[in-house]
Amino acid sequence: MTRVTGLTDDHVHSIAGSSDARDTVEVLCARAVELGLAGLCFTEHLDFNRDIPEYGYYVYDRVCAAVDAARARYGDRLEIRMGLEVDFEPKFADEIAETLPRLPVDFILGAVHVVQGQHIMLHAVAGRAWSSTALAAFYRDYFTSLRALLRCGVADCLAHVDYPAKRGMRAADGRPVDGYDAELAATLALAVELGVGIELNTKNVRAGAPLAAPPAALRQYLALGGRHVTLGSDTHGVEQLGDGLEIARVLLSEYGVAPVFFRGRKAVSIE
Ligand SMILES: [Zn+2]
Ligand SMILES: [Zn+2]
Repeated sequence: MTRVTGLTDDHVHSIAGSSDARDTVEVLCARAVELGLAGLCFTEHLDFNRDIPEYGYYVYDRVCAAVDAARARYGDRLEIRMGLEVDFEPKFADEIAETLPRLPVDFILGAVHVVQGQHIMLHAVAGRAWSSTALAAFYRDYFTSLRALLRCGVADCLAHVDYPAKRGMRAADGRPVDGYDAELAATLALAVELGVGIELNTKNVRAGAPLAAPPAALRQYLALGGRHVTLGSDTHGVEQLGDGLEIARVLLSEYGVAPVFFRGRKAVSIE
């Protein structure tokens, strides 16, 4: 594994490839240089659900052109990489496995955003009071999708494990979710077995949002022998770039582990 120094932000969205982003590759790279980042990866959303307005927004050549232009300007100070955040649902597994080899990138984050037919963000903002039984069923579906994503064999790393908790979904009675520990353990064990990493997603951490994966999941992943942990702010606007990376790095160093990033689909350790 190659070693480099300096933090990189490995979960960044730009308007070149993500319909919900607000800033250009150029603006984000200029900010990355100001922040003193060693590199960043444009992990643009890749959607497979034809029924959502985001479908078809990602055009590989457009992102390449934006990244090439940014490399010409900032490449001497910043390692600018291309990635994808694949929006996984089990019903699209075959199409995803067929499509991804045609889109050469440095890094593929696998993400489960949709559970029980709806984006987790919408489940969370609906403010529904989840009974512990309903939340247990929800989590069973969530983790089952994550394991299907792992078996699909396209992802270098799982994005924001326990996105529902990061988004604030809790049982109304505050009790632990039945079966959660076993579902999480089975998912992390499969990730380690298949050599897939996990991301420490630091989105809005400075404002008090929890990390994903949460520290307990990170501990478990490391205890199982997993060593590929990436750091990403999941920025959709330049003001979020780099948010919380330092916090995640300190947490990781407490376990004696250095973060990695992916270059050409290979993990590089950051010392
Ligand atoms: Zn995501
Ligand atoms: Zn994202």
